[in-house]
Amino acid sequence: MKTSIVVLIFAIGGILAHKVRYDNHKLYRLNPKTNEALEQLKQLEENDLEIKFWNDLRGKNHFVDILVPSEKIEEFEKFVRGFEIDLKLINTNIQEVIDAEKTNKRSTGMSWTAYNSLETIVDWMDSLATEYPDKVTKITVGKTYEGRDINGVKLSFNSNNTNNAVFIEANIHAREWITSAVVTWILNEFLTSTDAGVRNLAESHDWYIVPVLNVDGFQYTKTTDRMWRKTRTPYGKCYGVDPNRNWGYHWNEGGTSKNPCSDSYLGPAPFSEECTRTTSKYLSTIADKLIGYIGFHSYSQLLLIPYGHSPAHVENYDQLEEIGLKAAKSLAKRYGTQYTVGNIVETIYIASGSSMDWVKGNYKTPVTYTYELRDTGRYGFLLPAKQIIPTAEETLDSLVTMFEEYDAQTKQI
Ligand SMILES: [Zn+2]
Repeated sequence: MKTSIVVLIFAIGGILAHKVRYDNHKLYRLNPKTNEALEQLKQLEENDLEIKFWNDLRGKNHFVDILVPSEKIEEFEKFVRGFEIDLKLINTNIQEVIDAEKTNKRSTGMSWTAYNSLETIVDWMDSLATEYPDKVTKITVGKTYEGRDINGVKLSFNSNNTNNAVFIEANIHAREWITSAVVTWILNEFLTSTDAGVRNLAESHDWYIVPVLNVDGFQYTKTTDRMWRKTRTPYGKCYGVDPNRNWGYHWNEGGTSKNPCSDSYLGPAPFSEECTRTTSKYLSTIADKLIGYIGFHSYSQLLLIPYGHSPAHVENYDQLEEIGLKAAKSLAKRYGTQYTVGNIVETIYIASGSSMDWVKGNYKTPVTYTYELRDTGRYGFLLPAKQIIPTAEETLDSLVTMFEEYDAQTKQI
C-alpha cells in the first residue's frame, strides 16, 4: 500500500515535471594532446557539472565527447583553445537528435523499429510468460528507490540445463536505450529464431534476462530528462548514484566521483542503492548456477573484460580475451562494425564498483563481459531507432560465437 502511494506520487510528479530540453546544446569531441591539457579537462569535469562528459577521460591522445549547453559554448571554446586540445564539433543541436528519436506508444505493442516505454517492455515480458508458459518465467530481481519492481524473465528450454545459466543485464545506465532494445530483441530471437546457431545457444543454456535494471532512471529518461544516467535517490540537492559504480567489490577504488551532483557519483556506501543492493541479493541466490554474466552498455563499440579497479589480469583473462576476439570477429561479419576487446582499465580507464566486477570477484563466474554497443560517437547515447535491429543482429552473432567457443573449450576439459 505504502509503496503504491509512493509510486503514484512519483508518477504524478513525472507527469507534471517539465521536460529537460537540450536546445542548441553542442556535442564536441576533444582530444587532449598533453598531460597538462588532460589535467585541465579533469578539472573542468570536476568543477563544471553543467558541461557533461559522455565518456571517461582515458588519457592524452584519447578522445572524450562533451556536451556543452548553449550559454556556455563561448566560454568553453575559449577554455579549450588555451591548451593543446584538438576540438571537433560533432553535433550543433542535440535536441534535434532527441526529437528525431521515436518512442513507441504502448497501444501499438512491442517493436524494434522504435524505442519502447517501460510499460511496453514489462507488458511484453508478461505476455511472453503467458504465451510460452513452459519456457518463460517472469522474475523480479529487485526493487528500486521509487518502489518499482526490477523485472525480467527466466528462459529455459530444457530442464536438464543445470549450472550453465547466463545472466544478462541492460540499462543499468538509464540513457543507454539501445541496450534494453537489443536485449529484448535477442530474447525474442531466442524464442522464435529458426537459425541453428541461435537455437543451440538459446536451448543449451538457461537465461536470466533483465532488460531494464535501473528502472527509476530509465523512467526518468522517458518522462523528464533523456540524458539521465543515474538512479533517482536524493542526496542533498542532487539526485542519483551511478549504479555501475555502487557494487561492493573494490568499491571506491577509482574512476568515480564523491560529488552527489556528478554523473559518476559512487554513492555514500557500497550498495547504497536499492536497485544494486536487491539485485545483488538475487544474484547471490543463483550464483552457483551461473556460467555467464553479460552487461550491456553504450556507446563505444567495446567488449570489456573485468576488472575495472586494477590493470592486473583476471584469472582466466587469456581465455576471455581469446573468446572475446572471436566474438568481435563474428560481430563484424554482418555490417563491418568494429569492436575493441580488452580489460576495463587497459581499454578505457579505471572504473571501480561495477556489477560485472562484483559477480566476477565474488563468484569467479567464467564468462564475464560488458558490451559497449554502437556507435563510436556520431549519435552516442541517441542511436537512431533504425539501428536497433542491425545492432541487435550483430550482437547476437557475437553471443553465438562466444558461447560456442566457451562450451567447446569446457567440453574438451
Ligand atoms: Zn553505461
